[in-house]
Amino acid sequence: MAASAGPEIERLIALLGKLPGLGPRSARRAALALLKRRDQLLTPLSQALAEAAAKVRACSVCGALDTSDPCSVCADRSRDAGLLCVVEEVGGLWALERGGAFRGRYHVLGGLLSALDGVGPDALRVGELLRRVESGEVREVILALPATVDGQTTAHYLADRLTPTQVQVTMLARGVPVGGELDWLDDGTIAQALRARRPA
Ligand SMILES: [Zn+2]
Repeated sequence: MAASAGPEIERLIALLGKLPGLGPRSARRAALALLKRRDQLLTPLSQALAEAAAKVRACSVCGALDTSDPCSVCADRSRDAGLLCVVEEVGGLWALERGGAFRGRYHVLGGLLSALDGVGPDALRVGELLRRVESGEVREVILALPATVDGQTTAHYLADRLTPTQVQVTMLARGVPVGGELDWLDDGTIAQALRARRPA
């Protein structure tokens, strides 16, 4: 393949193209934007990347990403250690933290069970979860997993594995989003919301 830019630029484009949501065309546009704005974008971004590579680690307790281990959530004594929220990936933790309503701790699974992709329990942080629950501090495990086939398979598997610990296991409610018009919801969501109704 004839490279239209120099090998350094082609390498930059190839690496950017591996990012989620960036295809070859948008990777090329991103590379060009970076190169055209060297002082505002390229140099600060390369410094931020180097700093992240040097300092960010997975928390040895919950699996979240932070510059300290244990992470700032695990180290925060004001958070309720009795509430443990299980998420698929760090992105789920960030989403719940943005919501600001949860003051417990987290456990990042590192993926979901998937028969299709050959992902079994050993590939996920299931053993670590059971050990944390068995250590006795946890009252309730909240399974905040996606409403997909793999998400629900994983939730049911974890609920089964947690049964002997006698901890309370709950799942996030599914239903009408805040500001949502009933007309716009899909049938599955409407049915779920109706089943999950509660006293007004
Ligand atoms: Zn942590």
